[in-house]
Amino acid sequence: MNTSHYPIAVIGAGPVGLAAAAHLLARGLTPIVFEAGSSAGASILKWGHVRIFSPWLYNIDAEARRLLQAEGWQEPDGASYPTGRQLVEQYLKPLASTSALKPVIRYESKVTAVTKFRKDLMKNEGRGDAPFLLRIQTQDGHEYDLLAHAVIDASGTFEKPNPMGSHGIPVAGEQKEAESIAYGIPDVFGAEADVYANKRVLVVGSGHSAFNVLQDLVRLKEKAPATTIHWAIRKTSLDLVFGGGENDKLRERGRLGSTVRHLVEQGDITLFPGISIDRLERNQSGIVVESNGDQLPSVDRIIVTTGFRPDLQIISELRLALDPGTQSPTALAPLIDPNLHSCGTVRPHGAEELKHPDENFYIVGMKSYGRAPTFLLLTGYEQVRSVTSALAGDWDAARRVELVLPETGACSTKARPQTSSAQPKVCCG
Ligand SMILES: Cc1cc2nc3c(=O)[nH]c(=O)nc-3n(C[C@H](O)[C@H](O)[C@H](O)COP(=O)(O)OP(=O)(O)OC[C@H]3O[C@@H](n4cnc5c(N)ncnc54)[C@H](O)[C@@H]3O)c2cc1C
Repeated sequence: MNTSHYPIAVIGAGPVGLAAAAHLLARGLTPIVFEAGSSAGASILKWGHVRIFSPWLYNIDAEARRLLQAEGWQEPDGASYPTGRQLVEQYLKPLASTSALKPVIRYESKVTAVTKFRKDLMKNEGRGDAPFLLRIQTQDGHEYDLLAHAVIDASGTFEKPNPMGSHGIPVAGEQKEAESIAYGIPDVFGAEADVYANKRVLVVGSGHSAFNVLQDLVRLKEKAPATTIHWAIRKTSLDLVFGGGENDKLRERGRLGSTVRHLVEQGDITLFPGISIDRLERNQSGIVVESNGDQLPSVDRIIVTTGFRPDLQIISELRLALDPGTQSPTALAPLIDPNLHSCGTVRPHGAEELKHPDENFYIVGMKSYGRAPTFLLLTGYEQVRSVTSALAGDWDAARRVELVLPETGACSTKARPQTSSAQPKVCCG
């Protein structure tokens, strides 16, 4: 069956999904974008108070820029650093409102499953020729199916935070205490200040999300002095946590690390290193976390910042080639697996590394990295340029992965066409 008259479905109107749609249009293909939220960048708005650590110049896709400029868009100063909310308000919402993209986006439309039309996972015969079938659920509960020639899954990972335990599953007691536990990056100094003011708070995790939360809790403590901040990390030393510091290639990220180190050293934050949480329970003094038989001081609230994982349920009826550890496409895994290399660099990659046994299905953006925490937008924009080239049948362009790094001094590598392991690299987290 020739399926090319069906549209190409893009799941998610985040930065990478919208960039994918822009590239599809530039290739003369027909996208349809499904977004679960009520606006573009719905996931980013959940951490809209956080200032991101790559400057504007790194955050804008080239094809998206072309669409915006055609409509008189005023590009933000490339050297300044937006918050998540500014990224949405000044870039993603204007992009989603362009005359090219507006008609192809369906909001409040959650993709709940992707499969092959009349081919369950087991069926071989005619599988390659069958279109994709997406099940869509609208906010009012209405369900319908859509057939698609290809699917680009850019749904991110923000909706699936990791639990606090090191076993990969919630620790005993975690689900029972759900009301006292937040995941991700709650706005502890702004919208949710009342929840945390003058409370004993434990932050779990050692990435940049933790740094953001800790920094904001210290600001809250200045206004609400009884706020107590505990920080539990699995690593045994602060030096292992702070890594880049002043030498970090992304300046803002390095600055954040240095600030938090200073706050620990001056006693605003009490650090508990070498913690692997086994269980938690509530007693009369609050929530008590247990690690290796030891108990941490009781707290009122816990904030878990232990990263995110992809939702594989919605694509479980497709034939996928996923690395069993990172849960990223198999060929991408060795480039990003934090077990294999301490990630200072990631090679650019495209359709070749992102393809699956079910052809014309691609996972891109944050979700393509599976559980690896090091994704950057610039990498995602190159992914979608390559994937959309492949979908247009232009495999030469698809294989010519190039990462054009704007010269801001934040990353020193230069772009050049390459096909071998001597590829240019982009800084990651
Ligand atoms: C706090 C934080 C700071 C970051 N800072 C930087 C930075 O400085 N520089 C950088 O390059 N990267 C940064 N990143 C990493 C990354 O660039 C962002 O997470 C970015 O938002 C990823 O874009 P995305 O389009 O892949 O996914 P998302 O932005 O998560 O977008 C996914 C979209 O899909 C929608 N969706 C989800 N499921 C469904 C479904 N089933 N059906 C329909 N729609 C769905 C969501 O509502 C969302 O709008 C940061 C990430 C975080 C969390």
